[in-house]
Amino acid sequence: MEDSPSSEFSSLPLHPALLQAVASLNYERMTPIQALSLPPMLAQRDVIGQARTGSGKTAAYGLGLLSRIDPELNKVQALVLCPTRELADQIAKEIRRLARCLPNIKLTILSGGIDKRPQLASLEHDPHIVVGMAGRVQEHLALGTLKLDHLKVLVLDEADRMLDSDFEEATREIVLQAPKTRQTLFFSATFPESVRALSHKLQKQPLEVTVDTAAAAPEVQQHFYSVDPERRLTALAHLLSVHRPESALVFCHTKRDAQDVERQLAQRGFSVLGLHGDIEQRERDEVLERFANGSCRVLVATDVAARGLDIKTLAAVISYELPSDADVHVHRVGRTGRAGSSGLALHLCSPREGERLAAIEQRLGIQIKLQKLPMTALSPDRPLPATVVTLCIDGGRRDKLRPGDVLGALTGEAGLVKEAIGKINTYDTRTYVAIDKKLAKRALQRLREGKIKGKNFRVRPIGWDG
Ligand code: AMP
Repeated sequence: MEDSPSSEFSSLPLHPALLQAVASLNYERMTPIQALSLPPMLAQRDVIGQARTGSGKTAAYGLGLLSRIDPELNKVQALVLCPTRELADQIAKEIRRLARCLPNIKLTILSGGIDKRPQLASLEHDPHIVVGMAGRVQEHLALGTLKLDHLKVLVLDEADRMLDSDFEEATREIVLQAPKTRQTLFFSATFPESVRALSHKLQKQPLEVTVDTAAAAPEVQQHFYSVDPERRLTALAHLLSVHRPESALVFCHTKRDAQDVERQLAQRGFSVLGLHGDIEQRERDEVLERFANGSCRVLVATDVAARGLDIKTLAAVISYELPSDADVHVHRVGRTGRAGSSGLALHLCSPREGERLAAIEQRLGIQIKLQKLPMTALSPDRPLPATVVTLCIDGGRRDKLRPGDVLGALTGEAGLVKEAIGKINTYDTRTYVAIDKKLAKRALQRLREGKIKGKNFRVRPIGWDG
């Protein structure tokens, strides 16, 4: 049997100075993308890696390219192309940290949209590494201020976000100036046809590495809307009415907001529940059950209350307000589009939240375009009703009740069809059953009249009065 790749950095033929840097950064083990891509990269193969932000991909190719740099040779030996200025800054920071134990490695950032003069000055000092955006790199090549005739490694990071026509053209010209013997590395969260086509043109028999595609690259559509703070709720109702997500988690900043939003959405006819710090465990269980089994469509929560919520198929997450911490934003978005299913992340942002927006842009390395909502022509409320209701049986594991027993009681002789019955979840003293709304009355009657496992249990509908 073949051994799985080791996750120890020390198992790699890395320069001691790089191992030392990795240790000083407290990177104890390689991340999956590092364990898979570093061995072929260090063997100087071309690699195309599917990885997104947070996977450790920057350190993967950073170590790969630093391994190829000859500090004595004052020429550009590695070039990293990426789509945004923020990302260029982040990449440069990570590479500099990894190079901290190597002597005199010089790195220059060539981002677009900023003054060229400092860039010209820094290029005069012959950097070993350049991190930049394709357009600006191309400009410097045209000016003759940048030369790539000693380039050993070319990296395209977040290739899928760079592929507009200008970029393709710029990349092609850049590549023409680089030696054919170079190593070319591609990293991208997704591999659309355009990325594959470019890889085909620029790479030599690339080794493809993917880390759990489904989990690593969920398709999440993210939209940010500018909103007048007074009209936040109307905007939220509009988004819910237009998108009509099967399940939506609405994040509020404070407990009070969460309560207000829940109450107002309920008044407007939405199938909604709230989750905030104040409710008791039992009520919390009920709320979560109802949301998870689809008998409630919208859950309004604070970030703290939503912690640990493990619902796998959230159709949408909505920020009623942007969080002050960009990491919280990433967590919110990470709750939709899980396990390969596509997701929707919608965010309301008032003019006062500019700083929060900037922090998110910085964190994601993207420029966010705020969209406007047609506030004068908002769609009328069109709540998506739940088609399922939840019944609660006052008996659970302690009564040796298992989901199969409840299913049996409902479907037995002339009972309900299996398709009408959704999730059945048992707790110590209670069991929750999701039932098709149209058949809920019959189910309730059946459970009340009949016995489950030879015993009578109290059964009540939750949040539904028949
Ligand atoms: P990236 O996917 O490149 O944006 O990296 C995500 C974060 O993980 C960065 O803050 C890195 O510094 C960090 N990181 C990269 N490799 C490792 C590792 N092997 N162990 C712990 N953290 C790491």
